Amino acid sequence: MEKALSLIDFIKDEFVPEPKEIPERIQKEITLDLEEIFCPFCGHPLEYYYISKARPLITIKYDISLKVIHKRCVNEECVAAASNRRFYNPSLDLYMLPKKMYAMDVILLIGYLIQQENKTEEEVVKYLLEEHGITISQPSVNNYKRIALALGEALIMGNEEKIKGGLDELPFRVYSIDGLSSNRSRTLFIIRDLISGTVLGSALLDKHDSDTIHDFMEAVFKKFGTPDYMVGDGERGLIGAARKYYSDIPYQYCHRHFLDNLGKDLMKDLYKALKKN
Ligand SMILES: [Zn+2]
Repeated sequence: MEKALSLIDFIKDEFVPEPKEIPERIQKEITLDLEEIFCPFCGHPLEYYYISKARPLITIKYDISLKVIHKRCVNEECVAAASNRRFYNPSLDLYMLPKKMYAMDVILLIGYLIQQENKTEEEVVKYLLEEHGITISQPSVNNYKRIALALGEALIMGNEEKIKGGLDELPFRVYSIDGLSSNRSRTLFIIRDLISGTVLGSALLDKHDSDTIHDFMEAVFKKFGTPDYMVGDGERGLIGAARKYYSDIPYQYCHRHFLDNLGKDLMKDLYKALKKN
């Protein structure tokens, strides 16, 4: 028990809130390696190609200086070698956008704060600094807000015609479709051309049912053409969408199985077509 002769010590006489303590950022230097040691197209061991220069990556928690290991297939008869496909850890494209410094978690958070909590851009700047120690300018918030709102377009912006031209030259299209669970129980779905690894579209979906996923697939197919084959993960909504709407397109729910089952023969045709070009 404490004795007091006045309450003055317990009263605050100015009503300015105390400044919050800004959380300290954690610095990390990371080299992102690729575990896969065999070429997914031909089974030949992948060889080290090069390591990228360090680039900054800001996540909600970390300031990362990131280098990425690139590998390649050197089997001259392989489609991956013919198309000069580089292999790197796929999580790079899932968590980082080309030429952008802020990681996907920060981008999703900006989208969330603006869309769901109706914060202004200035409030987002303040929030990111006070809650996470992240320094970002208001024009950047504006930029990332647009990206968050149109995530799919952002990944392929300005490249659409070129990508489509490349796909049109192939004897067939194989698309891979992957789902990545993100914060706030949404899932980021990404559709890629399996041959080049190029991202064709991505969307942050609230629902995982087959109709929602179908809408997203349809938008990408309209833009780049309908695939002849699809490879995906075991997502139930995705398998449902494939069965319900694209029953005439073979769907394989694992990359490795695809190549084992029907991929290798197809890859031979593709290899020939690429050699001609
Ligand atoms: Zn290969």
